[in-house]
Amino acid sequence: MRIILLGPPGAGKGTQAKVIEERHNAVQLSTGDILRAAVAAGTPIGLQAKDIMARGELVPDDVIIGVVRDRLDEEDAKRGFILDGFPRTVAQAEALESLLEELDMQLDAVVEIRVDEAILVDRIEKRAAETVGGPRADDNVEALKKRLAVYREQTAPLIAFYEGRGALRTVDGMASVDEVTREIETVLAV
Ligand code: AMP
Repeated sequence: MRIILLGPPGAGKGTQAKVIEERHNAVQLSTGDILRAAVAAGTPIGLQAKDIMARGELVPDDVIIGVVRDRLDEEDAKRGFILDGFPRTVAQAEALESLLEELDMQLDAVVEIRVDEAILVDRIEKRAAETVGGPRADDNVEALKKRLAVYREQTAPLIAFYEGRGALRTVDGMASVDEVTREIETVLAV
């Protein structure tokens, strides 16, 4: 299975990706997690990304595309993947298309987890309070507002992009975690 999970910060992409990963023996490929690991390890990409991430802005497309290219090339990605947090711009989506073509892989679906923005601040504050080891640098109201604005401006256009390719499936992200999982399974089976 090769899918993209699309949705604003706090929509539940990471939570759902972990469930789907187990059920379908695919790997969760979260660019946010990869970048946070790079920041923690102090790699050149981590050093470049650290402040950008803390502000809630996007890491440059060429950097993130390089990260995804390397990750998709790893052996475990061959059994399938769930992209979580990538692509986030139309340029990234176009680069992904070329990359998948090169690797002779096809996407099965793009699942949009649709949520009401009004609940996202609450969800992120809850996640910040519950994260073991302390909150993420960008789980605060100021960075979240920026991340939401970035989502609206740069990532939401991907909904129309994938709709145009007949790949988009939308689920209601306001339901419980289990219900959202069920809905995702249903749209993926179509
Ligand atoms: P996430 O964990 O997906 O919310 O990502 C956290 C942060 O990492 C984002 O706010 C961006 O700064 C950066 N990031 C993650 N994925 C991408 C991406 N595909 N393009 C650019 N920046 C990204």
